[in-house]
Formats: sequence, C-alpha cells, structure tokens
Amino acid sequence: MSAPDVAALEAIVGAGNVLQGDLYGLRNPGYTRENLAAGLLVRPGNTAEVSALLRYLYRAGIPIVPHGGLTGLVLGAVSKPGDVIVNLERMNRIERVDPVDRVLVAEAGVTLETAQRASEEHHLMVPVDIAARGSATLGGNVATNAGGQRVMRYGMTRDMILGLEVVLPDGEVLCMMSGLVKNNAGYDLKQLFIGSEGTLGIVTRVVMRLHEAPARVATALAACQSFEQIPPLLRHASQHLGGKLTSFEMLDPKYYATTARLSFIAAPIAPAHGSYAILEASGAESDDVDADLEATLATALDEGLILDAVTAKSEAERQAIWTIRENSEPIERLTPACWSYDISLPLSRFAEYLAVVQSTLASIDPEPDFYYFGHVADGNLHLMVGSQASDEDMHRRIEEIVYTPLKTLGGSASAEHGIGLERRHLLNVCRSEGEIALMRRVKSILDPKGLMNAGKVLG
Ligand SMILES: Cc1cc2nc3c(=O)[nH]c(=O)nc-3n(C[C@H](O)[C@H](O)[C@H](O)COP(=O)(O)OP(=O)(O)OC[C@H]3O[C@@H](n4cnc5c(N)ncnc54)[C@H](O)[C@@H]3O)c2cc1C
Repeated sequence: MSAPDVAALEAIVGAGNVLQGDLYGLRNPGYTRENLAAGLLVRPGNTAEVSALLRYLYRAGIPIVPHGGLTGLVLGAVSKPGDVIVNLERMNRIERVDPVDRVLVAEAGVTLETAQRASEEHHLMVPVDIAARGSATLGGNVATNAGGQRVMRYGMTRDMILGLEVVLPDGEVLCMMSGLVKNNAGYDLKQLFIGSEGTLGIVTRVVMRLHEAPARVATALAACQSFEQIPPLLRHASQHLGGKLTSFEMLDPKYYATTARLSFIAAPIAPAHGSYAILEASGAESDDVDADLEATLATALDEGLILDAVTAKSEAERQAIWTIRENSEPIERLTPACWSYDISLPLSRFAEYLAVVQSTLASIDPEPDFYYFGHVADGNLHLMVGSQASDEDMHRRIEEIVYTPLKTLGGSASAEHGIGLERRHLLNVCRSEGEIALMRRVKSILDPKGLMNAGKVLG
C-alpha cells in the first residue's frame, strides 16, 4: 500500500490504529496465518470512522476484509497482500440492555460472551450460544448467521436480530436499528446482511432480541443402543418437555470417549454404548425442570429408547457434560490431518447417511478416525475425519465421501458455518442456479467493484 494511502487511513482512525510491521506480526491470526496475509489492519473506533474508511478504500479500489474474533471455520476472513483488514475490536461498547423492550443494543465488536453476561445482569438471555463465545463477536455472529446449542428452541442468529446498522462498501451508512419485533413494511433488508459473510458490507451495530433467562436448567446425558434411537428420543423428549427442551445434542461413542479423555473428565456413563445424547431443559422459577427431565428419561428407559442416563447434580457436572460435547479441538491434533464438516439433512435421513459415509470411509481406510456429533435436533451434524495421510488427494477423497450422499438425500454442505473460501465449490450443492444468479445480482448492486471480502462465498 502506498504511503499516501496509509497516511489517509491514519488520518481517519489515528496513527495507532493502522497496524503494520512488528505490532501487526504479534497479533493472533486465528485458525490460519492467511487471515493476516494482508499485512495491514485498521481498527476504527466508531461507525463514522468505518464509513470514512470504506469511502476512501472504495474510491481507491482497495479490497476490504472485515474481521471479528477470527473464530469462523470456513476461511471467510483470509486476506491477501494489498487488502486492508477492517477489525472492529475497538467497537466493543454495549449501548444498553433494555429489560422492558427486552433488547440489547451494542456495537458489532462486542464478544458474544460479553453480551451474554450483560444480559444476565438483567435476568435476560442472549439465546445464541456457541463454544467460541469468548472470542466470537456479534458482528461475526451476524455475518455467519451463527447457530449453536439452542437453535431448536430459539432459532438462528437471524431470528434474534431486530435491528442492524451496516456500512455499505461505498461508505454509506444503512441504519435499520428500529428494534421492532413486527415491522412488515416492505422488504426486510437487514436479513440480506445476516449470513452474508462480510461480502455486502460491514455490520457496525446490532439490536438483539433477548429472552427471559431461565431460572432453572436441568441437563442430562443419555446413552442409546445406536443412532437409530436418537430421532425417536428427540420426539419423546419434545413431547414430554414441550418448550422446556432447549438443547438436544448427539455424540457418537468415539467422540464421547475421546473428548472426555482429552478434557480429563471421567465419562459420566461408560463409553460402551452406541450413541449418546445431551438433553437440556429450562424453565421459570415455578417449573421443576429437574423432575420433568427425570420423568422424561424414566419413560424413555421404559420404552427402550435409552439404556442409561445421568442428570447433572451441580453446575460443575453440567459444565463437564457440555465440555465433552464442545471440546472438539484436541481431536484435530491426534492425526497428521483432520478435516471437519458441517452438514445438514432431514433428521429422517441421518441413519442412512451415516451408514453410507461409514462404509465408504472404511473402504479407503479400515480404521477411519471418524467422529460425528452436534445439533441433531436441527438436522445438523458436525463430522471430523482424521487421516494419517495429509495430502490433497486424501482430502479430496474424504470430501467426496462426505458430500456426495447429500445430493440424493436432500442435504446441505454447510449447515451453519457458511461458505467462505473453503466451501465455495459447494455452493451449488446447497443452492439452486436461480438462487446463485440472484445472489450475484445483489452483490453487484451493493458492491459493483467487487471489493468487499472479495472472492468469498460467490467467488
Ligand atoms: C470452537 C468453535 C465452535 C463453534 N461453534 C459454532 C456453532 O455451534 N454454530 C455456529 O454457527 N458456528 C460455530 N462456530 C463458527 C462461527 O461461525 C463463529 O465462531 C462466529 O460466528 C464468527 O464470529 P467471529 O467474530 O469470530 O467472526 P470472524 O471469524 O472474524 O469472521 C467470520 C466471517 O464474518 C465476517 N465478519 C466478521 N465480522 C464482521 C462484521 N462486523 N461485518 C461484516 N462481516 C463480518 C468475516 O469477514 C468472515 O467472513 C464455531 C467456531 C469455533 C471456533
């Protein structure tokens, strides 16, 4: 970047907030060093600065890559030399938590965990919850339409955003911060930016819908004979617990045993069964969710849906169960290569899908390091496949095994992590030609120079 360009950026955000060189090199790059390949990062302090930055960069024809907490999993934040990274870490103010309107208004650089804590002070809850909560930002959650553990009860990020402020690629500030639950006046434009992965503009502020924080939470781990029992167990739990069932996650036995071991947690149930599920019920002060959950499990046992179950008797036991579910990262280090997938299918097709994937994987490796777990209630599983071979050929073969059955079974190759760069070649597995063509038209209207997170999602 030329010296006059750098000077212009410094004039907008202050010299200390244009990072290059040593200071820049010390930054945490997240999952890949490619995130920081641009070599230049600016840290605006408010919306006016984001607007002035984008106006300058757009006129100068300089590509822009938005950064949040760098926890995204599909290479959506990677940059290249010549790009300018716009990082919102200084825009970390919570403007208000309003217990009457039940909304949180905040800048987009606030982390999800900070927003959760601020809401809890008012006995309210941000329903989005993901394991990366400590680093992921609200802007990143919006840009990726994050899902997580409570989607079955509250929906995706898209369902919790009541307002957004977005700076368009040319610097125009689009304010959609009404915060109204109901506003059927024309197109709901904010939805266009939710899940757009930084390709249409930079999210600078959000209005999030809050829910009453549950006064009581009950969590259980159940063991089933096989995956076949998971869908009927979900139905059973939904019928018995109704709206109180807030999470239903599954873990295959290998994942369960491995993450317990790698997290130094004694497995609450022996890792000898065919499938495991985490059930969490939440309710108000007057709800005896512990008793409700235990009764649900007792009838599930009677009906042969589960073989064993334990309920958490303390917050520490609850956290132990959730750590076993969430702590997937150490698995990546067990083999020279490990590839992760995030697939979506109708729940009724999962058993068939898993059988095909397992048998095909076994045909290329007699003992595949295969794990599957996750948000099964939303028809979403995460798969991890470890391999002794870390070459591109093995990567391609495994990818084909994971993705090919999705076409016939009506699934998606990206349930909640997005497309980024990594899954660009899979967009046509998940979306029709007509949808992709319209996405391109929308992109060309908002970003005619193609500078905003260039190459991501649509290529
Ligand atoms: C341990 C772990 C668990 C996870 N669990 C889940 C899960 O359960 N469910 C789920 O859906 N996801 C999950 N994720 C992935 C999830 O997408 C991200 O964690 C999170 O939503 C991204 O937020 P971020 O601030 O880190 O964004 P980044 O990683 O910084 O960016 C992600 C994308 O958003 C864009 N972006 C970031 N900020 C903005 C902004 N302000 N305006 C416009 N574009 C922006 C970036 O350009 C990039 O394309 C998980 C990730 C990890 C590491």
